[in-house]
Amino acid sequence: NLTGKTAVVTGSTSGIGLSYARAFAKAGANVVINGMGDADAIEKERKAIESEFAVKAVYSPADMLKPAEIAEMIKLGETTFGSVDILVNNAGIQFVSPIEDFPIEKWDAIIGINLSSAFHGIRAAVPGMKKRGWGRIINTASAHSLVASPFKSAYVAAKHGIAGLTKTVALELATHKITCNCISPGYVWTPLVEKQIPDTMKARGLSKEQVINDVLLAAQPTKQFVTPEQVAALAVYLCGDDASQITGANLSMDGGWTAA
Ligand code: NAD
Repeated sequence: NLTGKTAVVTGSTSGIGLSYARAFAKAGANVVINGMGDADAIEKERKAIESEFAVKAVYSPADMLKPAEIAEMIKLGETTFGSVDILVNNAGIQFVSPIEDFPIEKWDAIIGINLSSAFHGIRAAVPGMKKRGWGRIINTASAHSLVASPFKSAYVAAKHGIAGLTKTVALELATHKITCNCISPGYVWTPLVEKQIPDTMKARGLSKEQVINDVLLAAQPTKQFVTPEQVAALAVYLCGDDASQITGANLSMDGGWTAA
């Protein structure tokens, strides 16, 4: 039960992030949602969280490429609800290209959004967590924090970075009742995955069906996509007392991908 706690979830206007926000709200937490997208659609999701789960939800428009806006997002949670107890660094983008053609600005954006934003968020949230003597930091890593795939140089580098950041933060905060872990999903059917299909078709010269079956699900021994709700359920578990000794872990939920 997370009643009285506040969770900030970056990149929660879509996909896995939205599932985290809804799962924390269902467990009783107030939530700060964040991410890009259509203002009316975001407001609809925000209101739905409040009415379905009887908690409060506020929206932060912070751009994960801008450190000052990330700090503002943490402050918004602290001033609106009195604390930020749970921080989920989840915002992420993907780009698929051979390295020699990889656009420099895409590299910078992926490192910024998928890796550096977690540093900025943690840096801003930790003082309050330390003061209150409780905190949970969860980073959405990926199977790509453990293994690589061709044509995803920036993404794989950022996700390996997130795994290292997670371990470091866990060690620094180990005696403060603050845990820091990352969750590493395999392929989850979300807009992020759907959008990379055309580029993968181009990079590998394959049809859409071939990309889904021979590239995406080929990596996953169960031959099934992970669901956003399954990822969110693990995050809620990590916030409970039973998980207080899980810290610095990289928890795979990948249908067996990284066992192979
Ligand atoms: P998604 O595209 O559905 O959601 C991404 C979210 O990040 C959106 O809310 C988007 O608005 C937000 N975002 C993007 N750029 C932003 C910015 N500059 N500032 C603020 N928010 C920004 O993708 P998803 O699949 O739900 O991905 C969520 C996380 O899960 C990512 O870190 C991704 O790498 C990771 N992940 C996804 C999969 C998968 O198969 N879908 C697998 C492993 C890991």
